[in-house]
Amino acid sequence: MARFIFITGGVVSSLGKGLLAASLGALLQARGYKARIRKFDPYLNVDPGTMSPYQHGEVYVTDDGAETDLDLGHYERFTGVSARQSDNVTSGRVYSDIIAKERRGDYLGATVQVIPHVTNAIKEFALNDIDDLDFVICEIGGTIGDIESLPFVEALRQLSNDLGRENVVFVHTTLVPYIAAAGELKTKPTQHSVREMTGYGIQPDVLLCRSEHPIPPEERAKIALFCNVPESAVIQALDARSIYDVPLAYHNEGLDREVLRAFGIEDAPEPDLKRWTDIMDRVDNPEGEVTIGVVGKYVSLPDAYKSLREALVHGGFANKVKVNIKWLDAEMFESEDEELAAKLEPMHGILVPGGFGERGSEGKIAAIKFARTRKIPFFGICLGMQMACIEAARNQAGIEDATTTEFGEEGEPIIGLITEWMSEEGLQKRSADGDLGGTMRLGAYDAKLSPNSAVASQYGTTEISERHRHRYEVNKNYIPKLEQGGLIFSGMSPDGLLPEIVERPDHPWFIGVQFHPELKSRPFDPHPLFKGFIAAALEQSRLV
Ligand code: GLN
Repeated sequence: MARFIFITGGVVSSLGKGLLAASLGALLQARGYKARIRKFDPYLNVDPGTMSPYQHGEVYVTDDGAETDLDLGHYERFTGVSARQSDNVTSGRVYSDIIAKERRGDYLGATVQVIPHVTNAIKEFALNDIDDLDFVICEIGGTIGDIESLPFVEALRQLSNDLGRENVVFVHTTLVPYIAAAGELKTKPTQHSVREMTGYGIQPDVLLCRSEHPIPPEERAKIALFCNVPESAVIQALDARSIYDVPLAYHNEGLDREVLRAFGIEDAPEPDLKRWTDIMDRVDNPEGEVTIGVVGKYVSLPDAYKSLREALVHGGFANKVKVNIKWLDAEMFESEDEELAAKLEPMHGILVPGGFGERGSEGKIAAIKFARTRKIPFFGICLGMQMACIEAARNQAGIEDATTTEFGEEGEPIIGLITEWMSEEGLQKRSADGDLGGTMRLGAYDAKLSPNSAVASQYGTTEISERHRHRYEVNKNYIPKLEQGGLIFSGMSPDGLLPEIVERPDHPWFIGVQFHPELKSRPFDPHPLFKGFIAAALEQSRLV
């Protein structure tokens, strides 16, 4: 039977519970265990798909088409285990399922209540869809004490009784702040937060204490005494110099050892951490560096491009170089050509990422034209690929008013809404006026690559599967005109109807993809397109 590790956070938010879950998963894996990581989100949105990237950061998409919290991206990157729909649930989803059941009469007239109906649904979610796993790690979003996370905390308390205390471990994350005026670290917030947990009937087994300064032994002893845990279970977590150092740092502080001890496992195999020391070697000893300009709309909040940032870093690992990222607001390129040249000329590669809506689109198109004409490596992702097609249509194929129906009715729609497409489950249909949530082509779809294309050589195969998240598609009727202009459609959906990849044979590295390759890149297995893009940027850096 799988054992459960529940991760909670106290004192403040943003303590890095997601990275803790991901690192603990990686450490258990390194000891030969099979682990899966899940996340409970206490907000009322049914899924994060319709939440603004400005507020919530990136929406991470799984192979099976779930729009999830960005922490699932960390989980995948750190463990290599592909997340599934069943690995992320929000309060909104729990309530909407329960209300749908109530409307159908499934409760036979019973009074439907938070306890037991909501808590039971949460417990079912935790236990659902578990194959032959050793450990299930569940992260609970939010902070202990929030009203909205209460049903989750109560469900976990019940679950620890249902499963037996020997099968459940609670890891609680807290903050140990440094008060500069007093020159002291303060343990009181940790004590209060643990007292709050015990008030809900949960005694944490391991405390992960985030701190800007090393926590002296006396302070650890104090935390242990007041919080009723062994001193060895008070784990100090200092700020790491790279997120990829976190598994190693937490291991050195004894995190995995203490979690196993709390389960009563004394004879666990020693971890093989070579994968992580190799990555840190690449972080610490780059042999060069490149600068990539990312021309997008949500650049003020880099969390909106979390996976993209990591995939670029992984491309750097593959080439043993450091990747500097310049986040450039596309809107600033809409009026001034000089600004555009000044900002983009020093870039060794230009990337236009995914996005929604018209704002900044003319700036993106201008940046793409610059990359094309100056032969600077260019990578277009999703909306970035669509903009590359519009740029080619306008400037090379003579369709001056080329546009996408996403931006309105005017102009010639090179990109349009498709209403039917094939998936593994058969024909999918959507309508222009459908709900915003759940009307996109989402999740993994296969594509076929032209044998002699640049992308086929990057991938080393002509059959790929990549994750999608978009409503609009390049209209295949325009392919002949765009190809005459110089853009090659080198990847298509297996039925030949949906363009998946464009490239330019007359350019050192110009690739646009309709999917999101960044979602599948891992530090120990960098995505081939990011590896290729950074290699091309490295070439470019030698030219300028
Ligand atoms: N807005 C575009 C579409 O819906 C692109 C989406 C994206 O970049 N993820 O097709």
